[in-house]
Amino acid sequence: MTDTIVRDHPDNAADFVANDARAHWHDQSLWFVRSKRDKMAATLPEWEQLRQKASEIKLHTMSRLGDYLEEFERNAIKLGAKVYWARTPAEHNEIVLGIIQQHQAKKVVKSKSMLTEECHLNPYLERHGIAVTDTDLGEWIVQLRDEPPSHIVMPAIHIKKEEIGELFHEHLGTEKGATDPPYLVTAARKKLREQFLGADIGITGVNFAIAETGGFVVCTNEGNADLGVSLPKVHIACMGIEKLIPRLADLSIFLRLLGRSATGQPITTYSSHFHGPMAGGEMHIVLVDNGRSDILGSPEFRRSLNCIRCGACMNTCPVYRRSGGHSYQTTVPGPIGSILAPSRDAATYSTLPFACSLCGSCSDVCPVKIDLHTQLLTWRKEIAVRKLLPWTKRMGMALAGRVLGTPWLYRTAGWLGRKMLPILPRFLVYNGLNPWGKQRELPPMPRQSFRELYAKQRKRTLND
Ligand code: SF4
Repeated sequence: MTDTIVRDHPDNAADFVANDARAHWHDQSLWFVRSKRDKMAATLPEWEQLRQKASEIKLHTMSRLGDYLEEFERNAIKLGAKVYWARTPAEHNEIVLGIIQQHQAKKVVKSKSMLTEECHLNPYLERHGIAVTDTDLGEWIVQLRDEPPSHIVMPAIHIKKEEIGELFHEHLGTEKGATDPPYLVTAARKKLREQFLGADIGITGVNFAIAETGGFVVCTNEGNADLGVSLPKVHIACMGIEKLIPRLADLSIFLRLLGRSATGQPITTYSSHFHGPMAGGEMHIVLVDNGRSDILGSPEFRRSLNCIRCGACMNTCPVYRRSGGHSYQTTVPGPIGSILAPSRDAATYSTLPFACSLCGSCSDVCPVKIDLHTQLLTWRKEIAVRKLLPWTKRMGMALAGRVLGTPWLYRTAGWLGRKMLPILPRFLVYNGLNPWGKQRELPPMPRQSFRELYAKQRKRTLND
């Protein structure tokens, strides 16, 4: 399923940066999280070994994913869970709705799950008369605003507390103008508690599923997943097929990396282990492909499936920080999203691999050592090969190729540039055909070309 795209990333990013104060504050907030991650990583002398190990485990798992998935399924069934396979978001949604309808349930609480966002589960269930409440505070805030999350770990990072005060005033009847976080959180807690108590079914995502045991782990900072599946008797867990790790002994490596990379915490506050249904209850596990098998079959991009969704690449990315998560118009934004989205639909997401400065910071922080910036560069080539670049860029590149490949043309273009650009009227240089010049000024033109300077210098050296 493809998200509806109305505009390209540069247009959405331009809207975001038009509010300078917000863009600045968003940038600073994420940089603060990135800095916390650095400090916390530095406390572990074995940090790089952990990253290396995690990367190797994930690469190994992906090389035998089919076997491990079957092992997980066998063991989960032994524990009493029911396991379902969904190729597409539509199949996933039908399976979840089917389980809900079997129980004649009407109210569902859901902890944070990017997979269910990817499948657009909430609107689907709502269309079938099911009330869904997202119980992660950030997710609930964006749900009340009727918008998607802008970050995979901090879904409401783009919203200021003043806006949340207004939102809660409207939906929860809190005092107008209230911005005090404890006051607002208390109001949210009270309202969410009612939802937990009235829910018929709890849905969670899955952070790590363990093939060896058939169990899985859900990490939250709020304990909302635990409460959401402890009160109702039916637990539906939705997971992408790449969430697997082979052995229980591997888990600690990932848990140590996840919390530190995501928010700079030594560990996520709640790492809840689920092994089969509770006494008298039911557990349903839905395994979703949605294009992951295709990515697995691609030698260039299969390493992107190693992602553990920590969000560190977003927190460090200068483009993400300054353009906001919504500008990507895909469930997973930022560097990893700019690889995953075109893997599913290259035409729709053709601008995302260019939303990157190629600084390589994402690859440096990634806890599973995904070579993100290299894959983004590869995607750019793919976009060009598939002729998905806009005609202006194709023409520009063809022209540049001609000039750079023809010495006399190159010399003439350089001469014209040096002589003409400084005297041309400004509107001829800085206009809609020159997006580069939107926020930049050309440097003063040198009087001589490099060739002329070199020839002069050489002559001088020979004469000395
Ligand atoms: S690509 Fe790496 S840094 Fe980015 S979210 Fe995934 S695991 Fe985290």
